Amino acid sequence: MGGTFDPIHLGHLVAAEEARVRFDLARVIFVPNGRPPHKKDYPVTPAERRYEMVVLATASNPAFEASRMEIDRPGPSYAVDTVRALRADAGPDAALYFITGADAILEILTWRQPEKLAEECEFIAVTRPGCDINRLEHELSERLLARTHVLRVPGVDISSTELRKRAGAGGSLRYLTQESVARYIEAHRLYSGEGRAP
Ligand code: ATP
Ligand code: MG
Repeated sequence: MGGTFDPIHLGHLVAAEEARVRFDLARVIFVPNGRPPHKKDYPVTPAERRYEMVVLATASNPAFEASRMEIDRPGPSYAVDTVRALRADAGPDAALYFITGADAILEILTWRQPEKLAEECEFIAVTRPGCDINRLEHELSERLLARTHVLRVPGVDISSTELRKRAGAGGSLRYLTQESVARYIEAHRLYSGEGRAP
């Protein structure tokens, strides 16, 4: 599961756990983007901080892990490079799924080499409140659709944007993310400094 994770929140964790259970996944690897090519409309928190929050949030689930692969790779983060590296690691017979929200999979059309990506892995598109899952059928190519599984997950109507706004306004993040993550954000004043929100 890739993402900016700025910060990681309950929506990510619920989606990942549902995918793990429903697809009987041995592991769910959370890969924070290094330099996300799609997210330039606000100052993204340094990768190391976002990675540390992913480590904290995933610590209590033995099947979850945090990966440094994108943050340690120079240049922009392209999913196709990441999935190729994971494929090389897992071998040709391993089932590999890219978990994304319904909104993010639609962006795949604009990603680098989407068809190549679909050769290396399948997609699990999880439902997300406010995102119309039916758009997939209309907007994804036949080839991508054939490689995509839609997964209905309990709706968690929150986003990192919302958490950044709350933190910036001194609001509570309690129960919207892991307590350890909320404490980390507070300790490092991540979203409360000048020019940090939203
Ligand atoms: P931002 O508000 O900064 O865009 P975000 O909450 O969308 O943050 P991302 O890091 O952009 O979080 O998302 C990573 C992945 O998790 C994407 O595939 C996204 O669709 C999915 N996702 C994020 N929030 C939810 C949610 N509440 N329910 C289901 N999927 C989610
Ligand atoms: Mg997003």
